[in-house]
Amino acid sequence: MRVLLAHYQEIALKGQNRAWFIRHLARNLRDALAGLDVGEVRLPMGRVEVPLGDAVTIGDVESRVRHVFGLANYSFAHRVEPTVEAITDGVLRDLPRGRAVESFRVEVRRAHKQFPVPSPDLERHIGGRVHDVTNWRVDLSNPAFTVWVEIVPKGAYYHFGKRPGAGGLPSGTGGRVLVLLSGGIDSPVAAWRMMRRGCHATFVHFHAHPFLSHASIDKARELVRVLAPFQLGAHLMLIPFGELQRQITVTVPGPLRVVIYRRMMLRIASALAHKVHARALVTGDAVGQVASQTLDNLAAIDSAADRLVVRPLVGMAKDEIMADAERLGTFPISILPDQDCCTLFTPRHPLTRASVEAVARAEAGLPLDEMVAAAAADPAIERVDWPVLVKSPAGL
Ligand code: ATP
Ligand code: MG
Repeated sequence: MRVLLAHYQEIALKGQNRAWFIRHLARNLRDALAGLDVGEVRLPMGRVEVPLGDAVTIGDVESRVRHVFGLANYSFAHRVEPTVEAITDGVLRDLPRGRAVESFRVEVRRAHKQFPVPSPDLERHIGGRVHDVTNWRVDLSNPAFTVWVEIVPKGAYYHFGKRPGAGGLPSGTGGRVLVLLSGGIDSPVAAWRMMRRGCHATFVHFHAHPFLSHASIDKARELVRVLAPFQLGAHLMLIPFGELQRQITVTVPGPLRVVIYRRMMLRIASALAHKVHARALVTGDAVGQVASQTLDNLAAIDSAADRLVVRPLVGMAKDEIMADAERLGTFPISILPDQDCCTLFTPRHPLTRASVEAVARAEAGLPLDEMVAAAAADPAIERVDWPVLVKSPAGL
């Protein structure tokens, strides 16, 4: 029987919460595979197993499973009876014969210690048979090809290669966060890093449409589409910010505007976080990257939020963040030209050290509560579903 065989790693360390983490992982995997010809998710001895039906391809499964946080690695394996004959026959039958293999080894893991044959003996036995039929050279230290065998109490698996999983912790185990998503490079990476720690992200994007084009909205939508599969769907809130910015320009001097815009964003985000029960706000700031991201300015910005503000990229260099964005697939979207709302009504040289007094003075003339309440009252919310299931026509 063909199965998806996956391993978790970090969860194994989580003591008493282990069962709870694994339940989330199993449920997430089941939901990620929804609509495909697969069986029930099973959890034999520290592994995750999903039987694969005839109608499902490896590509189908892979496009889903690669987003499932909590998996260290996965493989497409065959499950047989836990006997030496069944394992050896299966391996010989399914070996990729057509291709030239420079060298190989067999690696056996016995999670079931009562299995009568010790691992090294089984490796030698299977390796000998493989060598007999293929003439491939054995290389124990640096093989080009590995035959993996794993034995659990009621079955045995063999496969010919592992693929890295998404890692991290299962989605939903870390609580909800509200991510401030610009159209830029950093905030999607910040979101992904928190999602990888098990947090479920809801997204908010502030835009200056119709003062500026809707390019940043389109980018935010595309970015959420890339991120949503990691947590089985997501919501994006779109908040018009241009009119607020215009109001701010009336009383706030140019150099201070970016800090005041950001404080406004955090206030509105705090109100939205309250509505969606998000425990923290997430931003893509990194110290020193741009003028608004000095420690002084970040502190001045944070004091407007009513809850924890998390900045997972705070100590990262731009090239490290860009490498993450490339891996994640958000980079090509982030570098599309847009019109970021923060460029609206701002001078080229913003203040790098906003003092508490200056901020208080600048905000004194603004009806802050009204502005926040109006912006957060009835946000436009878009939903991105994952997986996208193709509905069969009625009656089928
Ligand atoms: P990014 O690449 O994420 O845009 P950046 O280096 O360009 O970051 P800023 O533009 O100063 O830095 O933004 C800092 C953070 O503030 C962003 O990472 C994001 O979390 C938040 N932010 C900025 N603009 C917006 C926006 N229009 N909507 C939502 N959040 C925003
Ligand atoms: Mg930006």
